[in-house]
Amino acid sequence: MHSDPSTTYHSITYSGRYSDGKTAQSSPAEVRLTERGLEIGFPGAPQALIWPYGALGTATPVAKNATDALVTYEFMPGASLFVSDVKFVEALRVMSPQVTSRAYGWRSARPWVMAAAAVALAVGAGWAANLSPARWVAGMLPDSARASVGDKVLTSMVEGRKECTEPAGRAALDRLVGRLSDASGTKTRFRVRVVDWGLLNAFAVPGEQIVLTRQIIAQAKSPEEVAGVLAHEMGHGLELHPETAIVRIIGLTAVLELMTGGGGTLANVGLGLTQLSYTRAAEREADARGLALLEKARISSSGLIDFFKRISEIERKSGKGEWGLFRTHPESEERAKAAAARPAWKSEPAMSPQEWEALRAICGVGKLDLPTPVDPKAGEKKI
Ligand SMILES: [Zn+2]
Repeated sequence: MHSDPSTTYHSITYSGRYSDGKTAQSSPAEVRLTERGLEIGFPGAPQALIWPYGALGTATPVAKNATDALVTYEFMPGASLFVSDVKFVEALRVMSPQVTSRAYGWRSARPWVMAAAAVALAVGAGWAANLSPARWVAGMLPDSARASVGDKVLTSMVEGRKECTEPAGRAALDRLVGRLSDASGTKTRFRVRVVDWGLLNAFAVPGEQIVLTRQIIAQAKSPEEVAGVLAHEMGHGLELHPETAIVRIIGLTAVLELMTGGGGTLANVGLGLTQLSYTRAAEREADARGLALLEKARISSSGLIDFFKRISEIERKSGKGEWGLFRTHPESEERAKAAAARPAWKSEPAMSPQEWEALRAICGVGKLDLPTPVDPKAGEKKI
């Protein structure tokens, strides 16, 4: 049996990385669990930060046996502390029970929302100020590094969920992805996975990877709509938005450490990526890149426009409530208008009717007849 952390917490100093959320840098920090709260000391600095336990949050619930935690503090939005140490995580779960998986749920959504919002704010603040050292840094990462970070993020994101791989649907999707990848002019082809996930969302992951949920395909009324979502997410990827978000959240040094052999330490950061919403500016960039891809691939933009309209209806129906916190992106309606303002181009169908039918069945027949989800743990629709 392990000893009770509340009696031993004084004696251990953990090493972590502290980020103020404003710059691309993170600093090495010495972390102790004291009676007053989490003490974050910096080598050579006379004073340490104290974060009381009750106001701590994490980007995502900290599961039992988790090996790392990205800790946030209610009163310093944007700041975060990343510690990769099983013992630390264990002690944190005892001192700040609100960060545990069990405490997260419908009833306690609020502190979790605050923590996720803090991360989103940190990301948003940088973009809004147009100070993007993190983005510059993200652009310097070699392709292999982005791919390896992306793989870790992706693994943690889809953990425990089945990937949809029905061969005919997969082949149809591959052809569409190939068409859009060619239009991007990058040498890497985007890798797109469909995950059996009831959440309505699509994620761009570092290293030109994209996750589509089963629900995205279920809600799409035409292959052009799926193509539109894909093109938009590729736009995020081409603009290095996911890489930038990760550099900003955990700092460059931590990213470099992870690239050079860090184990599963991106687990919680990966999950965090599914929570943050991009800024309006980032969404506009992704829209612009996405529309350019569609044009070059000769796929009609009508699908993207229709999809935005449907999303805005779903948003209206499901209500905003406290999820409005995340509403930093332009309203879907506004984006549909902006997309519709571009002159139409000559287009060919995104898929044949047979391919579309196959894609609809990529998760297995009968899997798509599900109601629109409203999942508080799922965060913002960031499409
Ligand atoms: Zn987006």
